[in-house]
Amino acid sequence: MTSAAYPGLESRTIVVTGAGGGQGAAEARLLAESGARVIATDVTDAPPRDLAGVEYRRLDVADETAWAALARDLADRLGDEPLRGLVNNAGITHRARLGAVDRAAWDRVLAVDLTGPLLGIQALAPLMGAGSSIVNIGSSAALNGHYPVAYTASKWGLRGLTHAAATELGPRGVRVNVVHPGFIETPMTASAPDAMRAAQLALTPLERTGESDEVARVVAFLLSDAASYVSGAEIPVDGGFTSSAGAKYMSDRVAAP
Ligand code: NAD
Repeated sequence: MTSAAYPGLESRTIVVTGAGGGQGAAEARLLAESGARVIATDVTDAPPRDLAGVEYRRLDVADETAWAALARDLADRLGDEPLRGLVNNAGITHRARLGAVDRAAWDRVLAVDLTGPLLGIQALAPLMGAGSSIVNIGSSAALNGHYPVAYTASKWGLRGLTHAAATELGPRGVRVNVVHPGFIETPMTASAPDAMRAAQLALTPLERTGESDEVARVVAFLLSDAASYVSGAEIPVDGGFTSSAGAKYMSDRVAAP
């Protein structure tokens, strides 16, 4: 299938992590619909039902040996053809505050949300070539001081990893970017406290939460040739939340004190 919206994705092999649900599943689905050969991965044993037709593989992003096995497998399969895409989407949250977060939880969040993308890039970037694209999934928490400190710190770190990787891999024609979702309706946010959801809505200029497909479309753009000169970019997909940075609250108060 040829995709006018996402040129160049046809028949390209793209790995998506955390594709068992939420945004990762939406990304895998859209990429497959756009003609890509998607390898959807997650920690769960079985693929979700709505990913029928997409290749699925169990992969814990914090497990170096699992990445090495995937790299070996892809090298065998691809031969001289480069791997064209990696979406470092898998992530976990942990909503403990600064004074309450324990060492084990801190380590686990960093292992999945920050070390996972590093391991993925280390394992798979050697298989990539000119025209390949890596998309990291950050968060609006990477742009300000969200109270879940381990999550916030890991996502800020992912920004640094993105920029360092864009610098390092650019000369080989590999682009690296990070997308920062705001409050997106997924299993992750289903567990968010009601007050967090209400505060987010009050601070978001578009005055609604986002859907996984709205993030997936930006990810597909960054993987496609339409983004051929975009590297090292940070793209919020958050209804204006981080751009407004609290100014909406002030604007609303002044308009209706
Ligand atoms: P989700 O919880 O719905 O999905 C995350 C997926 O990652 C799950 O399928 C889970 O099984 C998988 N996963 C967890 N640990 C893993 C591991 N060690 N190895 C491989 N897979 C693992 O969450 P989501 O909302 O779809 O989040 C996707 C990404 O978007 C995450 O990086 C998250 O931090 C980020 N994000 C989400 C939101 C939001 O509002 N939902 C906002 C900002 C950023």
